[in-house]
Amino acid sequence: MAPPTDPTDPAYAAGLDAADPLGPHRDLFVGAETPLVYFDGNSLGRPLRVTGERLRTFVEEEWGGRLIRGWDEAWMDLPLVVGDGIGAACLGAAAGQVAVGDSTTVLLYKALRAAVALRPGRTEVVLNRDDFPTDRYVAASVARELGLTLRWIEVDPAAGVSVDDAAGVVGERTAVVLLSHVAYRSAWLADAPAITAVAHDAGAVVLWDLSHSVGSVPLALDDWGVDLAVGCTYKYLDGGPGAPAFVYAAARHHEGLDQPVTGWMGHADPFAMGPDWVPAPGIRRMVSGTPPIVGMLALQDMLRLLAAVGMPAVRQKSVALTSYAVDLADAWLAPLGVALASPRDPERRGGHVTLSHPRMREVVAALWQADVLPDYRDPGGLRLGLSPLSTSFTEVRTGLAAVRDLLA
Ligand SMILES: *Cc1c(COP(=O)(O)O)cnc(C)c1O
Repeated sequence: MAPPTDPTDPAYAAGLDAADPLGPHRDLFVGAETPLVYFDGNSLGRPLRVTGERLRTFVEEEWGGRLIRGWDEAWMDLPLVVGDGIGAACLGAAAGQVAVGDSTTVLLYKALRAAVALRPGRTEVVLNRDDFPTDRYVAASVARELGLTLRWIEVDPAAGVSVDDAAGVVGERTAVVLLSHVAYRSAWLADAPAITAVAHDAGAVVLWDLSHSVGSVPLALDDWGVDLAVGCTYKYLDGGPGAPAFVYAAARHHEGLDQPVTGWMGHADPFAMGPDWVPAPGIRRMVSGTPPIVGMLALQDMLRLLAAVGMPAVRQKSVALTSYAVDLADAWLAPLGVALASPRDPERRGGHVTLSHPRMREVVAALWQADVLPDYRDPGGLRLGLSPLSTSFTEVRTGLAAVRDLLA
């Protein structure tokens, strides 16, 4: 029998699942056996089943058994050990350039202050009017503190910042270009190497927010010459609610890296308890206070899985999932007045797809009642976050059929 060619046919989705080399990984996640449709893996990834056992063992053996000795034996180094794990599995970053801790918001503040300090005398920060709120708010505070000017790039909310957009505003006054690599609303995948080169040609540094790309889109921060980057670990890295963020700083900047939250844990010798702050060598100076050890446990399980699978395979599955969602939206939802608010070209699209309709807010509320969990983002955007290792093609079809039925 010939394989089905109509994407709306349930057998078509089943065929994609059967042919998917990463398909069996879905069973490694908690809840895979339930009929719930999860389209929000880019806001809070599902936990791996092994994480339950890791948490229990941690309480009984490491925390309960080692007690205060745990700091000397392992925990003190964990922000950099886990940072190296993120760097190797996801960022294309050599060891010693990534630290884990704080929230993305706090690390963004520290990294932006450090980035501005790398370019004394320059007065402008370039950013995107449609970027995630925390990025815009933090940049506004840094500008206020330091007397800088924010230079906004205006973009189409269904697309994002192009190389030409960036080249049009970056200039000799630019200290820092702060942008998201994958746009939280549209999933626009910025051309990070080219935009980084535009910034460098003008003598500026770049700070990339990788919250929606890490664990979904392959990154090569060292090769691209990126200066600084930050990102979340509770989205595609499945670190759990409130899991700490990470910061990357290229080794060439470490010597002069001046961040403002100079806590004892970023000191060269924390237990000397000396009168003045002396920065630790390397990326450790980006650490401020006591590292959130419990918050890094789940993340380590996901990093192990991502390292084994490899980001190119993850990206291939991600493109297949988002392309299938676009095909179903074209067939079922476009006739009902739904517009694609994400790039159609998979080369310019990250791991999610946004579909817009004036009544999408009501649709999303009804979907949640039916155990289909996407996200809603104004204006009228249904956001499908398709976490590559924990989402099946049949799940995509089931969820979009529910959207079709509600709109009809
Ligand atoms: C999710 C996200 C954040 C989150 O910041 P928190 O401090 O973890 O709440 C920041 N920036 C972007 C672009 C995001 O998508």
